[in-house]
Order: sequence, then C-alpha cells, then structure tokens
Amino acid sequence: MDKLLNVIGASGSSCGGCHSTGCGTCGPAPSKSKAPAVLSRRDFGYSALAASASVLLAGCSQQKPAETAAQPAAATPALSPELGVVQTSKGPIMTTLEEFYKMGPGPSSSHTMGPMRITYDFFQRVSKLPEDQLARATALKVHLFGSLSATGKGHGTDRASLAGLLGKAPATCPPEFLDGLAAHPDQAYKVTLGPKTLDLTLKDIIFDATKGDFHHPNTMTAQLLAGDQTLYELEYYSVGGGFIEWKGYKPPDKGQPKYPFEHARELKKYLIDDKIPLSKLLLENEMAISGKSEKDIWEFLDQVSEVMVRGVDTGLTVESVLPGPIKLHSKAAQMQRNLKSSSKGEAGRALTRVASYGFAMGEENARGHIIVTAPTAGSAGIIPAIVKSLHDLKTPQQKIRDGFLAAAAIGYLCKHNATLSGAEGGCQAEVGVGSSMGGAMIAQALGEGPKVVSNAAESALEAHLGMTCDPVAGYVQVPCIERCAYGAVKSWTAYCIASEENPAERRVDLDTTVAAMALTAKEMNSKYKETSEGGLAVSVVLC
Ligand code: SF4
Repeated sequence: MDKLLNVIGASGSSCGGCHSTGCGTCGPAPSKSKAPAVLSRRDFGYSALAASASVLLAGCSQQKPAETAAQPAAATPALSPELGVVQTSKGPIMTTLEEFYKMGPGPSSSHTMGPMRITYDFFQRVSKLPEDQLARATALKVHLFGSLSATGKGHGTDRASLAGLLGKAPATCPPEFLDGLAAHPDQAYKVTLGPKTLDLTLKDIIFDATKGDFHHPNTMTAQLLAGDQTLYELEYYSVGGGFIEWKGYKPPDKGQPKYPFEHARELKKYLIDDKIPLSKLLLENEMAISGKSEKDIWEFLDQVSEVMVRGVDTGLTVESVLPGPIKLHSKAAQMQRNLKSSSKGEAGRALTRVASYGFAMGEENARGHIIVTAPTAGSAGIIPAIVKSLHDLKTPQQKIRDGFLAAAAIGYLCKHNATLSGAEGGCQAEVGVGSSMGGAMIAQALGEGPKVVSNAAESALEAHLGMTCDPVAGYVQVPCIERCAYGAVKSWTAYCIASEENPAERRVDLDTTVAAMALTAKEMNSKYKETSEGGLAVSVVLC
C-alpha cells in the first residue's frame, strides 16, 4: 500500500534525530520572518485550545462543547521541499533504532523533546568553536518561532530548550533538574564553553514570531553572541516525533539492509527461507544500515531499557497533580501502594501491576520528565510497562534486547505502511502501535516463534483500530495516560491469545491490519486527529 503520508514515511530514511556535531555549518538564519505562515490543522487546534485554556484557567467555561468543536479544519502545513523529512522514501525500511527509540523530555516529541535535542546539538557545536572565539562570547540565545512560540509555554519548550543549552543530554537529564527549571524561572544557571562561563536563564529562550514564512511550523534559531555581534547561529526545525533538522541539513549516508523488507510477508519469507531468527535478522539489518557494531547496538538498547525502567520506578513513587488546566491527580503510586493490601486475587493484582506501570511512565511524560518514544511520547508508557513486567518475570536482559528488536520491527512496518502520528491517524497510530509493539516484544522475549510474535502484534493492533485522538485541553494526559495503561494490558492479552491459539488458524495477518489502520486513518474525520475538536476533548468540560 502506498504511504498515507510522505512526511512520516520520509523520516524513516532521513535521520532527523541525528545528534551529529560534525555536519556542515550553515549561513546565518533570519531572526524574523515576514509573510504569514499557513497554520496546520494541528496548529489551528492549538490556537483554539490556547483560547479555551485561558477561559478554563479563568473559571468554568460556559461555552457549550459543540461550539468549541465547530471550527473548520485548516489547510495542510506548507513545508519546505528542502527538508529531508518531506522527501518521499520509497523502497525498503531504512529506519534505525536510534531514530526510532528517541530519548528526551515529554510531553511532546515535537515541542519538547525536539527542542531539547536541538539546543543540546547547538551546545555541542559551539563547545567545539576555537577558544579565542569562545573567550569573546557574552550570551547564548534561542528564538522560538511558529507553533513552538504559539504553544511552547504549555509544552515546556522553554525549559527543555534551556536544559539542552546548559549541556544536559536529553537521555540522561535528571527529572529534578527539569522540575527545578520550572519551579525557579528566574534563576541563573552557569554553562561553561571552553574558557568562558556564561549565565543563562529562561529569559534567554525567546518566544518570537508565531507567524512567518518559515521552513517548517516548528522553527527555532540558536545564537552565540558577543555583545550585539553574532559569533555563531544556526536555524533548526523540530520536524516531528523528536526528529530534528537544520538549515543545510543533509541526511547521513546509510548502508543497505542485508534483508530488505517493506512488509511483514517479506520478513516472514526470510525467516523461513534463511532459517534466521527475527531478532538476528533485525540486528544484521541494523548493523548494515547504521554501520554500528553489535556491541554498540546492545549498549544503546540497554540504555533505552534503563531509561524506561527508571521512568516507571520514579512514576511509581511520585504523587502529584500533573501540570496544566485539567488538574489531573497521578494514580500510579496510589495503585502500587494499594496493591500491597489488595484482595483482588492473582489475576486482579497482575492486571493492576501492569496498568500501574503504564500509568507511571505516562504520568512521567506529562510531568515533562525523560521518556523514550515507543513509538511516540503520548504512547510512551506502554513499552516501559512491558519491560518492567518482563523484569518482574526475571527475563534475561538479552531476551529483553531481542524483544526491543521485535517491537521495533512492528513499529517500522506501521511507520512505513501507515503512520505513527495521532495528527494523521488518531490514537490507533500511537497507542495502537505501541500496544502492538508490546505484544510482539512479550512474545519474542518469552521465546515464542515468529508466527506468534506477528500474531500477537496483529491482535493488539486489531483491538485498537479506529481509536481516535482527542486529548482534553490539548494536554497529553486525558485519555493518553490511561490509554497507555490499557495499551500495556492489551499487549499482554494479545500475547496470551497468540500463544494459546493455533498460530496457523489466525484469520487476519499483520500486513492486512496495518493496511486497515492506514485506510482508517485516511478516512478518519479530522476532528479526531489531535485537534482537540472532537470526542473527549469537547465532551469534558473543565471547571
Ligand atoms: S489521544 Fe492523541 S495525544 Fe493522546 S496518546 Fe492518543 S494519539 Fe497521542
């Protein structure tokens, strides 16, 4: 099936998530743009949200839900054809693990994680400038444009950007540091660049023009200044899903996969003809495409696993009201505490435990702490819940690594043949795919064959077809967090079904269900694609 979305498909072959600091530098970027930008449907939703959020914060809205929903959908965003992310990818899946499992702060991969990856990239670039240049530096500034400026406050774009500029790596930045930035907005933080130490505050992250002739709706510039003179400047784009590009960006060269595939049926043929295990095939492809060694790949997956488990463990101990107008109280710690005296029996306790893990990481995402896209920030609670529950079963780390590879294969197939974006395909594309990945991961990690792995993935995805994206007040909290809990439980259910049934008797194969998701995404009413113009987003009235 043709890809629904060139944008989504293209990112599979262009490394927007690259942290490289060795790429070509670019000319100075304009600090202001002139012509009005075309607002995307999503941005349009955000504008409507910003307006309604101010009403909500001021008191209970008297507006009828139907009135908030009665907004026309805006046009598709006009993206520059020069962006790697808009260049259509044809041929075999070329996505790498590092592009797929991206680490950084929630709650939004495009508005929080992407900006932090950008400023951390800029920090690394300027750190390598000659000492005499750095000795003259007086300031680091970041300008946010377009949607980043319009909606960045609510997403915590400023604190994520400041953390990266201060040299905090997105994968390892402690939650307390991010919380501190939010709690003490006027505090100055020191950053050392060669011989120079600069003081930075949140005021160095500037909410600039929301409209203009931008390369991408999520544009930002970073500058190293000496007084009013610019020593170094680069224009960046947070192109979605945590992927980043910059002016003059060239996708890195990649090798050809050893086992090229676009669909599950081709994968299956290799597994049978070449008698190769699924995890081994994916490992071989990863090494061929990324050029990494096996050791590097295991180290990366172990880091992903560690970040996920740390996130769940933190979420299970912290109780708080989550940021934003919903005033949602966290549940994970409460569920975990109550488990100790639970009389629900073995099944009830097992379900509660898995659900609490999903809540824990979903709540961490809402707090703006470090998460891993799997496949997105909104669905980031599912795979950590699976990893944590596999740890409970004392599953060896190598089996968990194999599970990560199987889960990635499912995510790649969905990305390549449909979409991973709630803005394009509703929540089936985020939580649905995450749950499908989880089913495959459990089956792989617990030693099932490829047919059961594929059937578990299919079963979980099938259970989510048609699920809409309707986040209340535009915050990735309701229904997102609870859906992560359900997504994880459904992963286990899908594994249980697939491992107990006769695998040969499953009537629907994975490719068929992915195609059905693509078709459903295409025909889904735009109100249900992350615009917050339909569903729960307009049914729930906040006071
Ligand atoms: S409801 Fe929308 S924002 Fe929330 S997890 Fe689902 S796709 Fe993501």
